Amino acid sequence: MERVAIVTGGSRGIGRAIVEDLARKNIKIIANYNQSEEKARKLKEELEKENISIDIFKADVSKREQVKAMVDYTIKKYGKIDILINNAGIDQEKMFQDITDEDWDKIVKVNLYSVFCTTQEVIKYMLNKKDGCIINISSIYGISGGSCAVAYSATKAGIDGMTKSLAKELGPSNIRVNSIAPGYINTDMNKRYSKEEIEQIKEETPLVKIGKPEDIAKCIEWLVDDNFTTGQVISINGGWEI
Ligand code: NAP
Repeated sequence: MERVAIVTGGSRGIGRAIVEDLARKNIKIIANYNQSEEKARKLKEELEKENISIDIFKADVSKREQVKAMVDYTIKKYGKIDILINNAGIDQEKMFQDITDEDWDKIVKVNLYSVFCTTQEVIKYMLNKKDGCIINISSIYGISGGSCAVAYSATKAGIDGMTKSLAKELGPSNIRVNSIAPGYINTDMNKRYSKEEIEQIKEETPLVKIGKPEDIAKCIEWLVDDNFTTGQVISINGGWEI
């Protein structure tokens, strides 16, 4: 039977590109969404025109019972989960002094707890068959830090720490765990940047271009077929940070 993958935050941005790429590789996809129901439906319809069928599933990944429902649905329908892509995430641009407890709790819940909780719910089924591939989308800010992005950067560094530790713990069970840490990628998350700011980021990037969601999806496509890579943080950033 084909491999089965859950992609969190799969209806738009980087997650959408990952869903499209893996679905075209004949992998059965459960594309998770939270607020973007319309976009998730459209994506499903578009892929159906290529004779590709995907499942879409609404779940707030910061809530365990909703994650559990998504995992239960997948197991009931397909009997296994081979690949988990923890992609869902939110941004937060604030001066450190202005971050409230509520801001902190929210971003930690959505960006970091979600990875803990989704991975915990999924790996029971990977441990059963001693096989699995988990890819967490962190960020270059988790490596180099970002001004006015302390909480965001902390969650992303936390994801990389979780990736490395889990890779050691799950390696003997043949479950590979890696992070992809993107640099600037052209998605809704970066809408707030002006044309001039984007131009400046481009100029500061050795490859003198802005990343596209497909650039991340290509690396994932390679990683899901790999056999000997685990515990790595792969930063795809056009050379912005070397
Ligand atoms: P985006 O376009 O803003 O998309 C964010 C995705 O996360 C959406 O699909 C959204 O789903 C989902 N999401 C947010 N909160 C959720 C929740 N509570 N439950 C389930 N899904 C949730 O951002 P993006 O650029 O594609 O980002 C994807 C990942 O890459 C994030 O983890 C981000 O931190 C990381 N990243 C992005 C960049 C960049 O430059 N774009 C750089 C480094 C890292 P709904 O719309 O359905 O709610």
